[in-house]
Amino acid sequence: LHVTTDLSPGAAAAPTLDQSRYLTQVMRLKAGDELLVFNGRDGEWRATIAEVLKKGVILRAEAQVRAQINPPDVHLLIATVKKSALEFAVEKATELGAARISLVTTQRTQAQHLRLDRLDAIAEESAEQTGRLDVPLVDAPRKLDAILDGWDASRRLMFCDETGGAPAIPALQAAGGSSWAILIGPEGGFSPEEGERLRSLPFATSVSLGPRILRADTAATTALTLWQAAIGD
Ligand code: SAM
Repeated sequence: LHVTTDLSPGAAAAPTLDQSRYLTQVMRLKAGDELLVFNGRDGEWRATIAEVLKKGVILRAEAQVRAQINPPDVHLLIATVKKSALEFAVEKATELGAARISLVTTQRTQAQHLRLDRLDAIAEESAEQTGRLDVPLVDAPRKLDAILDGWDASRRLMFCDETGGAPAIPALQAAGGSSWAILIGPEGGFSPEEGERLRSLPFATSVSLGPRILRADTAATTALTLWQAAIGD
């Protein structure tokens, strides 16, 4: 279970009301039962349900069972595609170890009402299910040009270019580096100007994800998998 409070021997760990309901009503846990908790900073801890109160359960942290490890340093930058594809991409990126998921608006993204709290909840649930010790940050949408203008050049960019790009694994291995970001475009792809700018960036590696056009959520999942195969651990 993901908690936000600090974890140390005997510390009280306070789940949210929803989480408390899930523990007591869905999982049917009661006082004295044990579960594993993590907060993204202190590794994974065994905790006991100390009290079941109306306003929620109180957990008592007992002992650390896994030291903190952070996933390989890869960010997913994905254009704001339609809701179901974005939710799928957030879930798969969390399972595949993305440390951060940044939403990007490009010339061809469609304006839409985004529920960031829903994407955060998907990332948290997926992190708990996959046994990670942290929950990826999901950033609110920012314009592609602004992201590139403020780019930290110590991070390489895997530009997934459906109009060309080199075979991914050798291109990633040739580029080297350990901090990466993966960029996936919208349903309509990148505009010619965007493609031209991206291909000209010194920190970008333009890669192909194969001969077929993938949906953005499939492309995100594929790109993260190829990145893991070439660079990640
Ligand atoms: N403009 C494309 C078309 O011709 O229909 C569709 C774009 S695709 C749905 C969304 C994004 O996924 C692309 O911008 C690209 O980043 C990535 N993508 C999809 N297929 C790819 C491929 N075969 N190689 C590299 N990137 C790909």
